[in-house]
Amino acid sequence: MRQIGHLVIILALTALTQLGGLAWLVALRFRRRLAVFLLAYAALWGGAQVVAPVFGRVPLPCSGELLRTQSRLYCVMLRNFVTPELLDVAKDAAARVAIAYPGTVTLALDGSFPFGDGFPLVPHLSHDDGEKLDFAFYYRDDFYGDGDYLPGITDSPIGYFSFLRLGEETCPPAWPTLRWELRWLEPLHLFVGLEPKRTGALVRALAKDPRVSKIFVEPPVAELLGVSGDKIRFQGCRAARHDDHIHIQL
Ligand SMILES: [Zn+2]
Repeated sequence: MRQIGHLVIILALTALTQLGGLAWLVALRFRRRLAVFLLAYAALWGGAQVVAPVFGRVPLPCSGELLRTQSRLYCVMLRNFVTPELLDVAKDAAARVAIAYPGTVTLALDGSFPFGDGFPLVPHLSHDDGEKLDFAFYYRDDFYGDGDYLPGITDSPIGYFSFLRLGEETCPPAWPTLRWELRWLEPLHLFVGLEPKRTGALVRALAKDPRVSKIFVEPPVAELLGVSGDKIRFQGCRAARHDDHIHIQL
């Protein structure tokens, strides 16, 4: 029974952070398990920052005024790795938005893990090669009207899952589904509104970049933002919904 418990912990930590399961495996050999786990994870984390670039994955910045991860948690959990090319794409797009709207902070969400092709970043099955990245929407301080832009703020605490729920549900009910509702998370939301000008500018900057092959946003969101083009697509009903963030791939 205990072994099953440890196996569950190892699998969960591996799914969430790639290297956390390994740290737990090391910690199992020691009595002060939690302390050893934290030390082992810190060592693996530091190692990943140095070794991953050798294998073609670099971390997105965890701080900064132009482009950064939505929270440090993405960095702590090693979910902020992308190819050097995708890092450039993200920096260029963030710079374009900030030129049009000075003071804009572009927030990145999940990228990929530091190592391996084909190791998916749950729950995004496609984020497995460093060539996919999610961006948070930009928000303003009034849910319905046109309040001021809020730099560095997202409606939900992790940037994901504040669904706009525009128009009618286009997909038939299915099980299992990645089109989650997650209404139970709503008490944690700030109830700030989407800032469409900056969000539209980001999508347009990404669409203009020849290195970007696809951008996923839900069709009613694309309509609201006034963006269109052959790169801007609906991801289909069998993938996660995209009325809470923007997904791009090279
Ligand atoms: Zn994505």
